[in-house]
Amino acid sequence: MKQDNPPAQKCSVCGYALQPLHPEAPGQWQRCSRKLCGHIQREPIATDSSDSPLFTDVAPAPAANSLWGKIRGSFENKTQSASKDRELWERLYLPETPGKLLELGAGDPSAILNLTRLGWQQIEAWHLCPQAPQEWQEKGVSLKSGEPDLSSYPAESFDAVVLRWALEQSPEPLTLLKNAWRLLKPSGRFVLIAWNSNSLGCELFAAQWLPFTIAPHRRLYSPGSLRQSLALAKVQRKFALFTSFAGQLPQSQPPQPETETEALRQKALKQLEQDPLCGEALVLVADKAQTDD
Ligand SMILES: [Zn+2]
Repeated sequence: MKQDNPPAQKCSVCGYALQPLHPEAPGQWQRCSRKLCGHIQREPIATDSSDSPLFTDVAPAPAANSLWGKIRGSFENKTQSASKDRELWERLYLPETPGKLLELGAGDPSAILNLTRLGWQQIEAWHLCPQAPQEWQEKGVSLKSGEPDLSSYPAESFDAVVLRWALEQSPEPLTLLKNAWRLLKPSGRFVLIAWNSNSLGCELFAAQWLPFTIAPHRRLYSPGSLRQSLALAKVQRKFALFTSFAGQLPQSQPPQPETETEALRQKALKQLEQDPLCGEALVLVADKAQTDD
């Protein structure tokens, strides 16, 4: 099934009907009506994103005086993931033993610097934002820009493949998933980081949730639609799928007004109780078996 040109009103993952997501704020975003799926997509996507600012996954962290900063204290025990989560996030969930890495997406390039310090010396890094390479070259990070043709790389040529905020923008996400898996050596590590459409931020901030405002985004995954996409791409290995607040906290664009603090607090409480998978980032980690094809 072609993913870049789905039927106008059908979910590109499961084929169910789409419904407008924010009727009060007409945009192109639509959500799949099948509850187990919950995929979010827009057609047509915003075409000119050349002027959009460089998005990195750590900036801007909500300041102490931001609205979320004020209410999150109420839920600290639930949202404060262990320092272990932060540590794993900073090493992009990669194994202790370094190897050859392919990293692709729109994440903070400083993670690449960090990996270099951890001994990862062979890194092929691609950033989807055109401005990223120049900005980071001076800081010692070698980045290429755009989405590479992964089909041109030889199979099983990387010890680890990381897709970080990449599927949201890809014209052909299933092809990207298939290629990422194909490039992985047996026993290699696959890591996928994506925005979570079932997240607290999406619930709290609705049309102002940060990922809806990032121009190149074509779609946003839920845990259900990500699982289904992996099945469609035939990445059917066992994997761990969880959510994390470690690299991203709920953010609205523009910032929410002070007057809404109490309403947000109530919404956040409800969401945190109802859905344990409500971190801002979906994280999927899979190891390729020795016998995988
Ligand atoms: Zn669907």
